[in-house]
Amino acid sequence: MDNAASMTPSTPFDVVQIPVWTDNYAYLLCPRDGTAAVVDSPEAEPILEVLSQGGLQLTHIFNTHHHFDHIGANQELIAAFPDVVVCGGRYDAEHQRIPGQTRILEDGETFEWGGDRCTVREVPAHTLGHIAYCWDSNRAFVGDTLFFGGCGRLFEGTAAMMDRALYEVLGRLDNSTLLYCAHEYTEANLRFARTVDPHNAELLALSEEVASLRARGKPTVPSRLEQEWAINPFLRCDSPTIRQALNCDTSSPRHEVLGALRTLKDGFRG
Ligand code: ZN
Ligand code: FE
Repeated sequence: MDNAASMTPSTPFDVVQIPVWTDNYAYLLCPRDGTAAVVDSPEAEPILEVLSQGGLQLTHIFNTHHHFDHIGANQELIAAFPDVVVCGGRYDAEHQRIPGQTRILEDGETFEWGGDRCTVREVPAHTLGHIAYCWDSNRAFVGDTLFFGGCGRLFEGTAAMMDRALYEVLGRLDNSTLLYCAHEYTEANLRFARTVDPHNAELLALSEEVASLRARGKPTVPSRLEQEWAINPFLRCDSPTIRQALNCDTSSPRHEVLGALRTLKDGFRG
Protein backbone atom coordinates (compact mmCIF):
# COMPACT_ATOMS: atom_id res chain seq x y z
CA MET A 1 0.00 0.00 0.00
CA ASP A 2 1.31 3.43 -0.87
CA ASN A 3 1.75 6.20 1.58
CA ALA A 4 3.45 9.57 1.71
CA ALA A 5 6.83 8.02 2.44
CA SER A 6 6.87 6.18 -0.88
CA MET A 7 6.76 9.30 -3.05
CA THR A 8 9.30 9.14 -5.84
CA PRO A 9 11.80 12.01 -6.14
CA SER A 10 10.28 13.01 -9.48
CA THR A 11 7.00 14.18 -7.93
CA PRO A 12 6.79 17.98 -7.88
CA PHE A 13 5.95 18.17 -4.18
CA ASP A 14 6.02 15.82 -1.23
CA VAL A 15 2.84 15.14 0.70
CA VAL A 16 3.16 15.10 4.46
CA GLN A 17 0.17 13.48 6.09
CA ILE A 18 -0.72 15.07 9.43
CA PRO A 19 -3.12 13.05 11.59
CA VAL A 20 -5.38 15.30 13.66
CA TRP A 21 -7.73 14.26 16.47
CA THR A 22 -9.03 10.72 16.15
CA ASP A 23 -9.50 10.36 12.41
CA ASN A 24 -8.87 13.60 10.48
CA TYR A 25 -6.01 14.18 8.09
CA ALA A 26 -4.52 17.47 7.00
CA TYR A 27 -2.01 17.30 4.17
CA LEU A 28 1.00 19.51 3.85
CA LEU A 29 2.23 19.87 0.28
CA CYS A 30 5.96 20.59 0.23
CA PRO A 31 7.74 21.45 -3.04
CA ARG A 32 11.18 21.50 -1.30
CA ASP A 33 11.74 25.21 -1.96
CA GLY A 34 10.86 26.36 1.54
CA THR A 35 7.18 26.90 0.77
CA ALA A 36 4.19 24.74 1.67
CA ALA A 37 0.45 24.57 1.26
CA VAL A 38 -2.04 22.76 3.41
CA VAL A 39 -5.11 20.85 2.23
CA ASP A 40 -7.75 21.39 4.91
CA SER A 41 -7.04 22.79 8.34
CA PRO A 42 -8.72 20.99 11.23
CA GLU A 43 -6.38 22.21 13.96
CA ALA A 44 -3.53 24.74 13.83
CA GLU A 45 -1.04 23.32 16.30
CA PRO A 46 0.06 20.13 14.50
CA ILE A 47 0.19 21.99 11.17
CA LEU A 48 2.23 24.87 12.60
CA GLU A 49 4.55 22.38 14.24
CA VAL A 50 5.41 20.64 10.97
CA LEU A 51 5.83 24.03 9.28
CA SER A 52 8.19 25.30 11.96
CA GLN A 53 10.18 22.05 12.06
CA GLY A 54 10.83 22.39 8.33
CA GLY A 55 11.25 26.18 8.41
CA LEU A 56 8.46 26.36 5.84
CA GLN A 57 6.46 29.36 4.66
CA LEU A 58 2.75 28.58 4.22
CA THR A 59 1.64 30.14 0.92
CA HIS A 60 -1.80 28.53 0.41
CA ILE A 61 -4.65 26.89 2.25
CA PHE A 62 -6.65 24.61 -0.04
CA ASN A 63 -9.99 24.05 1.66
CA THR A 64 -12.23 21.31 0.28
CA HIS A 65 -15.42 22.37 2.10
CA HIS A 66 -16.74 24.40 5.00
CA HIS A 67 -17.11 21.79 7.75
CA PHE A 68 -15.32 22.76 10.95
CA ASP A 69 -12.92 19.83 10.82
CA HIS A 70 -11.66 21.20 7.48
CA ILE A 71 -11.50 24.96 8.12
CA GLY A 72 -11.19 25.23 11.91
CA ALA A 73 -7.57 26.40 11.84
CA ASN A 74 -7.86 28.91 9.00
CA GLN A 75 -7.84 31.98 11.24
CA GLU A 76 -4.87 30.82 13.28
CA LEU A 77 -2.92 29.94 10.15
CA ILE A 78 -3.76 33.35 8.65
CA ALA A 79 -2.56 34.99 11.87
CA ALA A 80 0.75 33.11 11.57
CA PHE A 81 1.09 33.72 7.80
CA PRO A 82 -0.81 36.91 6.94
CA ASP A 83 -0.09 36.63 3.20
CA VAL A 84 -1.47 33.11 2.88
CA VAL A 85 -3.92 32.63 -0.01
CA VAL A 86 -7.08 30.90 1.21
CA CYS A 87 -8.77 28.89 -1.55
CA GLY A 88 -12.22 27.37 -1.71
CA GLY A 89 -15.10 26.89 -4.08
CA ARG A 90 -17.67 29.38 -5.35
CA TYR A 91 -20.66 28.13 -3.38
CA ASP A 92 -18.79 28.31 -0.08
CA ALA A 93 -17.50 31.79 -0.99
CA GLU A 94 -21.02 33.00 -1.76
CA HIS A 95 -22.19 31.62 1.56
CA GLN A 96 -19.14 33.05 3.33
CA ARG A 97 -18.47 29.84 5.13
CA ILE A 98 -14.74 29.45 4.61
CA PRO A 99 -12.99 31.76 7.10
CA GLY A 100 -10.61 34.21 5.43
CA GLN A 101 -11.23 32.93 1.90
CA THR A 102 -9.33 35.14 -0.56
CA ARG A 103 -9.63 33.12 -3.74
CA ILE A 104 -12.64 31.55 -5.44
CA LEU A 105 -11.81 28.44 -7.45
CA GLU A 106 -14.14 27.57 -10.32
CA ASP A 107 -15.04 24.12 -11.61
CA GLY A 108 -12.55 23.06 -14.25
CA GLU A 109 -10.13 25.88 -13.45
CA THR A 110 -6.45 25.01 -13.47
CA PHE A 111 -3.66 26.72 -11.58
CA GLU A 112 0.05 26.13 -11.06
CA TRP A 113 1.56 25.67 -7.66
CA GLY A 114 4.66 23.91 -6.35
CA GLY A 115 5.83 22.87 -9.80
CA ASP A 116 2.61 21.03 -10.52
CA ARG A 117 -0.72 21.88 -12.10
CA CYS A 118 -4.01 21.47 -10.29
CA THR A 119 -7.44 21.07 -11.85
CA VAL A 120 -10.24 22.10 -9.53
CA ARG A 121 -13.44 20.08 -9.69
CA GLU A 122 -16.72 20.86 -8.00
CA VAL A 123 -18.07 17.71 -6.37
CA PRO A 124 -21.22 18.85 -4.55
CA ALA A 125 -22.86 16.01 -2.58
CA HIS A 126 -21.49 15.75 0.99
CA THR A 127 -21.90 19.54 1.01
CA LEU A 128 -22.98 21.80 -1.83
CA GLY A 129 -19.67 23.69 -1.86
CA HIS A 130 -17.34 20.72 -1.88
CA ILE A 131 -14.41 20.82 -4.31
CA ALA A 132 -11.56 18.42 -5.09
CA TYR A 133 -7.96 19.31 -6.00
CA CYS A 134 -6.72 17.05 -8.81
CA TRP A 135 -3.03 17.42 -9.62
CA ASP A 136 -1.27 16.46 -12.85
CA SER A 137 1.06 14.27 -10.75
CA ASN A 138 -1.95 11.94 -10.33
CA ARG A 139 -2.72 12.91 -6.77
CA ALA A 140 -6.20 14.06 -5.84
CA PHE A 141 -7.32 15.62 -2.55
CA VAL A 142 -10.93 14.65 -2.25
CA GLY A 143 -11.93 15.77 1.25
CA ASP A 144 -15.09 14.04 2.46
CA THR A 145 -16.36 12.97 -0.98
CA LEU A 146 -14.65 9.65 -1.69
CA PHE A 147 -13.24 7.80 1.29
CA PHE A 148 -11.10 4.69 1.09
CA GLY A 149 -13.83 2.03 0.75
CA GLY A 150 -16.68 4.52 1.21
CA CYS A 151 -18.09 7.97 0.50
CA GLY A 152 -19.17 11.01 2.48
CA ARG A 153 -22.56 11.36 4.10
CA LEU A 154 -25.14 13.32 2.14
CA PHE A 155 -25.47 16.36 4.42
CA GLU A 156 -26.55 18.82 1.71
CA GLY A 157 -26.60 17.03 -1.63
CA THR A 158 -28.48 14.10 -3.12
CA ALA A 159 -27.55 10.56 -4.12
CA ALA A 160 -27.68 11.65 -7.76
CA MET A 161 -25.11 14.34 -6.99
CA MET A 162 -22.85 11.84 -5.24
CA ASP A 163 -23.26 9.51 -8.20
CA ARG A 164 -22.02 12.28 -10.49
CA ALA A 165 -19.14 13.17 -8.15
CA LEU A 166 -17.95 9.57 -7.89
CA TYR A 167 -18.56 8.25 -11.41
CA GLU A 168 -18.46 11.31 -13.66
CA VAL A 169 -15.78 13.36 -11.94
CA LEU A 170 -13.42 11.48 -9.61
CA GLY A 171 -13.99 8.17 -11.39
CA ARG A 172 -12.76 9.75 -14.63
CA LEU A 173 -9.32 10.45 -13.19
CA ASP A 174 -6.45 8.22 -14.23
CA ASN A 175 -6.79 4.81 -12.58
CA SER A 176 -3.37 5.19 -11.00
CA THR A 177 -4.41 8.39 -9.18
CA LEU A 178 -3.63 8.46 -5.48
CA LEU A 179 -6.70 9.57 -3.53
CA TYR A 180 -6.06 11.53 -0.36
CA CYS A 181 -9.27 11.66 1.63
CA ALA A 182 -9.70 13.64 4.84
CA HIS A 183 -10.58 10.87 7.28
CA GLU A 184 -9.21 7.53 8.41
CA TYR A 185 -12.52 5.69 8.10
CA THR A 186 -11.19 2.74 6.11
CA GLU A 187 -11.62 -0.01 8.67
CA ALA A 188 -15.28 0.77 9.36
CA ASN A 189 -15.93 1.33 5.65
CA LEU A 190 -14.56 -2.09 4.76
CA ARG A 191 -16.56 -3.70 7.58
CA PHE A 192 -19.68 -2.30 5.94
CA ALA A 193 -18.48 -3.18 2.43
CA ARG A 194 -18.12 -6.83 3.42
CA THR A 195 -21.80 -6.98 4.39
CA VAL A 196 -22.91 -6.12 0.85
CA ASP A 197 -20.02 -7.68 -1.09
CA PRO A 198 -19.05 -10.67 1.08
CA HIS A 199 -17.31 -12.77 -1.58
CA ASN A 200 -15.09 -10.05 -3.04
CA ALA A 201 -11.61 -11.58 -2.70
CA GLU A 202 -9.79 -8.28 -3.14
CA LEU A 203 -11.95 -6.69 -0.46
CA LEU A 204 -11.25 -9.53 1.96
CA ALA A 205 -7.50 -9.36 1.32
CA LEU A 206 -7.49 -5.58 1.73
CA SER A 207 -9.45 -5.88 4.99
CA GLU A 208 -6.65 -7.96 6.47
CA GLU A 209 -4.00 -5.56 5.25
CA VAL A 210 -5.92 -2.61 6.70
CA ALA A 211 -6.44 -4.34 10.07
CA SER A 212 -2.72 -4.96 10.28
CA LEU A 213 -1.84 -1.35 9.40
CA ARG A 214 -4.29 0.02 11.95
CA ALA A 215 -3.09 -2.35 14.65
CA ARG A 216 0.33 -0.74 14.16
CA GLY A 217 -1.19 2.75 14.19
CA LYS A 218 -0.36 3.32 10.52
CA PRO A 219 -2.52 5.24 8.03
CA THR A 220 -4.32 3.35 5.27
CA VAL A 221 -4.79 6.50 3.17
CA PRO A 222 -4.07 7.26 0.34
CA SER A 223 -5.69 4.66 -1.87
CA ARG A 224 -5.48 4.30 -5.63
CA LEU A 225 -8.51 4.82 -7.84
CA GLU A 226 -8.15 1.37 -9.43
CA GLN A 227 -8.31 -0.14 -5.96
CA GLU A 228 -11.53 1.75 -5.21
CA TRP A 229 -13.18 0.33 -8.33
CA ALA A 230 -12.39 -3.13 -7.00
CA ILE A 231 -13.47 -2.78 -3.37
CA ASN A 232 -15.55 0.36 -2.75
CA PRO A 233 -19.28 -0.54 -2.83
CA PHE A 234 -20.18 3.07 -3.69
CA LEU A 235 -18.17 2.68 -6.91
CA ARG A 236 -19.64 -0.77 -7.54
CA CYS A 237 -23.31 0.15 -7.75
CA ASP A 238 -23.60 -1.71 -11.06
CA SER A 239 -22.43 -4.95 -9.46
CA PRO A 240 -25.19 -7.61 -9.44
CA THR A 241 -24.02 -8.78 -5.99
CA ILE A 242 -24.44 -5.34 -4.50
CA ARG A 243 -27.79 -4.77 -6.20
CA GLN A 244 -28.99 -8.08 -4.87
CA ALA A 245 -27.85 -7.24 -1.33
CA LEU A 246 -29.93 -4.05 -1.53
CA ASN A 247 -32.94 -5.66 -3.22
CA CYS A 248 -32.44 -3.34 -6.20
CA ASP A 249 -33.07 -4.94 -9.59
CA THR A 250 -30.79 -4.65 -12.58
CA SER A 251 -32.90 -1.91 -14.18
CA SER A 252 -32.73 0.51 -11.21
CA PRO A 253 -30.78 3.65 -12.05
CA ARG A 254 -27.34 3.60 -10.48
CA HIS A 255 -27.96 6.64 -8.27
CA GLU A 256 -30.91 4.84 -6.67
CA VAL A 257 -28.64 1.95 -5.77
CA LEU A 258 -26.09 4.41 -4.43
CA GLY A 259 -28.79 6.15 -2.38
CA ALA A 260 -29.99 2.86 -0.91
CA LEU A 261 -26.41 1.94 -0.08
CA ARG A 262 -25.80 5.31 1.58
CA THR A 263 -28.97 4.97 3.67
CA LEU A 264 -27.98 1.48 4.74
CA LYS A 265 -24.50 2.70 5.70
CA ASP A 266 -25.97 5.62 7.69
CA GLY A 267 -27.72 3.10 9.92
CA PHE A 268 -24.85 0.60 10.02
CA ARG A 269 -23.45 -0.17 13.44
CA GLY A 270 -20.88 -2.81 12.77
ZN1 ZN B 1 -17.25 17.14 6.00
FE1 FE C 1 -14.80 15.85 7.64
